[in-house]
This record gives sequence, C-alpha cells and structure tokens, in this order.
Amino acid sequence: MKTVSTRLLVLGSGPAGLTAAIYAARAGMSPVVVQGIQPGGQLTTTTDVENYPGFRDVIQGPWLMEEMQAQAEHVGTRFEWDHISDVDFSRRPFVLTGDGGTTYTCDTLVIATGAQAKWLGLPSEEHMKGKGASACATCDGFFYRGKKVAVIGGGNTAVEEALYLTNHSHDVTLIHRRDSLRAEKILQDRLFAHPGIKVIWHSEVAEFVAGGTPEALVGLDLRDVRTGAISRLDVEGAFVAIGHHPATELFKGKLELDSDGYIAVETGSTRTSVEGVFACGDVMDKLYRQAVTAAGTGCMAALDAERFLAEQEFEALQAAE
Ligand code: FAD
Ligand code: NAP
Repeated sequence: MKTVSTRLLVLGSGPAGLTAAIYAARAGMSPVVVQGIQPGGQLTTTTDVENYPGFRDVIQGPWLMEEMQAQAEHVGTRFEWDHISDVDFSRRPFVLTGDGGTTYTCDTLVIATGAQAKWLGLPSEEHMKGKGASACATCDGFFYRGKKVAVIGGGNTAVEEALYLTNHSHDVTLIHRRDSLRAEKILQDRLFAHPGIKVIWHSEVAEFVAGGTPEALVGLDLRDVRTGAISRLDVEGAFVAIGHHPATELFKGKLELDSDGYIAVETGSTRTSVEGVFACGDVMDKLYRQAVTAAGTGCMAALDAERFLAEQEFEALQAAE
C-alpha cells in the first residue's frame, strides 16, 4: 500500500485549503493537499462570483478555484486525489487513511473540509438550483435586485438572509414551518420591524415552480402544514436557509466540536483541541461562510502550523544539545 509522508497535510481543496497550501508552500513546508471528492470545493458548484476581491468583472467559481489550485501547484504544493476516511491523532506524526487504503503521515494537519448547505430535498428544488433556488443570499442576492424573493427557515441564518436581501429587494417573504422563529430575539425584532419583509407561518415549500424561456423560477407552491392547503407565492428567487452540515463526521470523538458539529477553535486562532491540528474555512465558521473568509482563515492556519513546527523543531534541537 502507498504511504505519503509530509510535514504539513491539508485536508480539502476549497478556498481555505488552497490558501493554506499557498502560504505553507511559500514558507518551504512542501505541503500535500488531499482534495476530497469535490476538488475546488463549493465554489465549483456555482457560476457567477462577484464578491471575491481583485476582479472588477464577474468571474466564474470553477475558474477561480482552478486559478487557486494552479497557484498552489506553482509554489510547490503536491495534490492527492483521495478522500480521507480515518484519522489517528493519538500520536505524532498523525496518521490518516484514504478511501483507497493510502496512508498519510504528517507532523501537522490543516483541516479545511468545509460544510454543505442543507436542502429541502425536492426534485423541483434540485432542478431550479442556479435558476432561482439558492442556499446563499450573500452570494446570490445581488442577482435578484428589484425582484420578489423568499427565504425558507426560521433560524439566525434565515433571518439574517431575509434582512440582507432587503438591500436588493423591497419584497422579501420569510417562510417558516412553525408559528415562532428560533432566531435570536434581536434579529427577530429587526425582521418584524422591517417594512420590506413579511412572514408566512405554518408553511413549507411543496414545489419550486419553473416558467419562461430560458427557464427560471416564477414561484413557490406553499403547503399550509395545518390544513394541507396549497397556495402560490410569486417569487423569482428562493433562498433555502435551513442550516448546514459541517464535514466533521470523521473527527467525532477525536477533536472537540461545538454544539452544531463545527470544529471548535481557540478564539482568534485556528488551533483545535489537538496540538498540531488546525482548522479553517466553513468547517469551523458557521457565521460568515464566504470564499474570502475561508481563504483568510486558511492563511491563518498555515501561519499557525508554521509556528507550531518551528517551535517543535526548536525544542527538538535544544533536547539534542
Ligand atoms: P469548501 O469549499 O466546502 O471545500 C471543502 C473541501 O474539503 C472540498 O475540496 C472537499 O472535497 C474536501 N473534503 C471534504 N471532506 C473531505 C475528506 N474527508 N477528505 C478529503 N477532503 C475532504 N462564497 C463567496 O464568497 N462568494 C460567492 O459568490 C459564493 N457563492 C456560492 C455559491 C454556492 C452555490 C455555494 C454552495 C457556496 C457559495 N459561496 C460563495 C460560499 C463559498 O463557496 C464557501 O464559503 C467556501 O467554498 C468555503 O471554503 P472551504 O475551503 O472552507 O470549504
Ligand atoms: P438552525 O438554527 O438549525 O435553524 C434551521 C431552521 O430551519 C429552523 O428554523 C428549522 O425549523 C428550519 N428547518 C430545518 N429543516 C427544515 C425543513 N426541512 N423544512 C423547513 N424548515 C426547516 O440553523 P441556522 O439558522 O443555519 O443556524 C445554525 C447555527 O449557527 C445556530 O447555532 C445559529 O445560532 C448560528 N448562527 C448564528 C448567527 C449569528 O449569531 N448572527 C448567524 C447564523 C447562524 P424549526 O425551527 O421548526 O426547527
């Protein structure tokens, strides 16, 4: 079986992992990136990106990620197309196992495995992704300026997304399946006070309705959960905000996770509960979830890992004298 040994291993090839790799490679740490089953991460599933700094014109998500990977390769990163299915943090070097049986050993590890938005699971929702159905208002809200939009969910994310969308739309509807929100009171107060937002209670989405040429979202069929009655809400954008799944299954019982399953890090750093393991990007951030913030924490993780290795090497030298 193949074994890959490196000083620094990066798990994940989204903006966080690739930025960590660029910084680590430029610091001479010869990082290896294990790409996972989604090389390039979440941005490869979208088209237009308008908020990544440095580009005046609209750029494409997959293109941006190809450029990041090319930059990481150019400065000396090695890539492994594999998915990690087991980790052993009980000793150093850490040992990780890939799906195909490859063993990876590393002195320090940067985890950048990201998070995936939860979707309602309707076939019509799947069909309308990118054509009116989105899971990120901060990313896509701008494309619906002046149009009627809806947000589905009742937590902090849904309320924040509804408030954010009022920057672009004067007609925002929040759809929630119960008669009370679980969002913080201060956010609820802002939501209820906003003249551009109305709330539809006790309702769930039965269908995303397509129309026109080219095909685009024209409405949502809503089901009243008490009566089963169906009604049509005309909207051109529908933002599903019912939570995210951080990709942390692998780390349960091995790293401290917060109550929502995200990797817990020390405030102001990327240090996890295991010395020498660092986490960056959406896997440790449930608030911002942007490419640029993921890249920012990726940079932090590489710098934290570099300092950790330097300290280890200094201590080893002293012990040898
Ligand atoms: P991700 O991009 O999620 O990457 C995670 C990586 O980890 C993947 O490469 C995956 O293969 C790998 N991985 C997972 N598990 C394993 C494992 N066990 N072993 C090895 N590898 C593993 N943000 C913006 O700033 N602007 C936008 O316009 C924008 N648009 C978006 C549109 C859509 C449709 C979506 C879904 C998101 C959008 N975002 C946008 C959000 C942005 O994509 C994320 O915030 C960002 O990608 C997070 O980066 P990350 O590196 O933390 O994780
Ligand atoms: P969340 O708190 O889990 O809320 C998810 C919401 O979606 C709930 O209202 C839930 O309804 C609803 N929902 C779930 N599945 C659904 C389905 N299949 N159909 C319809 N509705 C569904 O998720 P979140 O809002 O993303 O927040 C996640 C965590 O991040 C929380 O800890 C939150 O506090 C935190 N966060 C904090 C901030 C902030 O501090 N500013 C911002 C964003 C997120 P029910 O209420 O009926 O269960």
